[in-house]
Amino acid sequence: MEVIVHKYGGTSVGTPDKIRNVARRVKEVKDNGYEVVVIVSAMGHTTDELIDLMNKVTDNPDPREYDMLVSTGEQVSAALLAMALQAQGCPAVSLTGGQAGVVTEDIYKKARIKDIKLDRIKKELKAGKVVVVTGFQGVDSQGDIITIGRGGSDTSAVAIAAALHAQVCDIYTDVDGVYTTDPRICPDAKKLKYVSYEEMLELASLGAQVLHPRSVECASIYNMVIHLRSSQKEIEGTYIMSPERIIEEGGKMEKKEAVRGIALDENIAKIGIFKVPDKPGTAARLFGALAADKINVDMIVQSIHTAGSQADMAFTVDKPDLKKAVAITEKIAKELGAEGVVSDSDVSKVSLVGIGMVSQPGTASKMFAALSGEKINIQMISTSEIKVSCIIKAEQGKQAVQLLHKAFGLDKVA
Ligand code: ASP
Ligand code: MG
Repeated sequence: MEVIVHKYGGTSVGTPDKIRNVARRVKEVKDNGYEVVVIVSAMGHTTDELIDLMNKVTDNPDPREYDMLVSTGEQVSAALLAMALQAQGCPAVSLTGGQAGVVTEDIYKKARIKDIKLDRIKKELKAGKVVVVTGFQGVDSQGDIITIGRGGSDTSAVAIAAALHAQVCDIYTDVDGVYTTDPRICPDAKKLKYVSYEEMLELASLGAQVLHPRSVECASIYNMVIHLRSSQKEIEGTYIMSPERIIEEGGKMEKKEAVRGIALDENIAKIGIFKVPDKPGTAARLFGALAADKINVDMIVQSIHTAGSQADMAFTVDKPDLKKAVAITEKIAKELGAEGVVSDSDVSKVSLVGIGMVSQPGTASKMFAALSGEKINIQMISTSEIKVSCIIKAEQGKQAVQLLHKAFGLDKVA
C-alpha cells in the first residue's frame, strides 16, 4: 500500500476547528486506500508561549529542560489530532518523536536527525491506523528528548517521508505555495509550480519564510519531492524538487527566464571597518570573534583602501545582533590597528534567485541598471552562481522589489 505523508504547521492546527478539519482531510486520504503518516507542529504560537513561561522562571535555562518543555507543544497537537480522527471513526495513534523512532545527535536544542527506526510506525500502519507524529523532536542516545531547532517540524516531516520512501511529502501551511516574490509587496506576484531545491534554499534563507531551510537540504539529499500547499484550499501548491525532475514533469526550467524569484530581507544591518592592515589573519580574527559569539554574518565585502597596506571591509548581520556585533568589531579593530568602525541598520537586502542565471550572463548588470534607473543607490553587492544580492536603503526595499519584479518579467510567468 502506498504511504502518504502530510505535515501540518502551527496555524493549520491552531484551533480545535482547524484540527477537526485536518482530521477530515486525513481521513479522506485514508478512506481512499492509502497508509497515512501525519507530522504536526505545535498549535499556533504554543512554542513561543512555552518559551515565555520559561523566561519567567529563569534567565539561564538548562538546555535539557528547555527541550523537555518546548517539545510538549507538539504532543498536544498530535494527541488532539489523533483524538479528532478517532472521533470521526478513523483509527489513529499519536507518537512522540522518540516513540516514532526518530534518533538525533546528542545535542540539546538544535540536533540533527541521525536515523529513523521505522518499526513502530510500520506496526501501527499495518494495524490500519493513521500515525500522527510530533514534529520538531526525537531522542538522543540516552533516550533524552531532543528538539531539532525552531521551525524544525518541516525537517521532521521530510526525514520521515524519506525513511518511508514516500513519493512526496505534502507540507500544508497558511500560504498556498512559493511565489515569485512576496505578494504583499507585489500584488501581481505569481505562484510558481516548480522550484528547485537550490533556489528554495536561497529563497528560504533570504527571508521567504515558507519552509525551514534544513528541510529543503534534507529533501535534496534524499531527492524527496516537497509539495508546499495550503491547508485551507484544495488546490495544487508548489513542488520543490531537483531540476532534472522538474524537466521530467514537463515544467520547463524556463531557460529564458534567468530569475525565478525575488526576496527582500529587511532584518539586516551593515557594519564597515576601515583601513584594516592588509595581512594574513585579519579577516579570520574578526569573523572568528563574531562566530564565537554566535553572530551570523552574511554578506562580506573586502576592498583595497591603500594598495598593499590597508583594506576596507563591510559585512551584514541580523538586525538584533547589531549592537553586540559592533562592540566585538570595535574591540578587534583596536587590536588590529584599524582606523574606524561604522554601522547602519537602515538597510535592506534585495536578491534575485534563479538557477538559469548560471547560463545567462547579464542578470546582475540588468539588475543594477534597473535600480539606478529609479535612483536607488547600491551600497554592497554579492553574487553567487544562482543569486545576486544588493544592499540598499531600507525605505527603498519594497520599491526595488516591485521594479525588479517587472524588469525581469516575473509578473508574466505562467
Ligand atoms: N513548534 C516548533 C517551533 O515553533 C517547531 C515548528 O513549528 O516547526 O519552532
Ligand atoms: Mg512552524
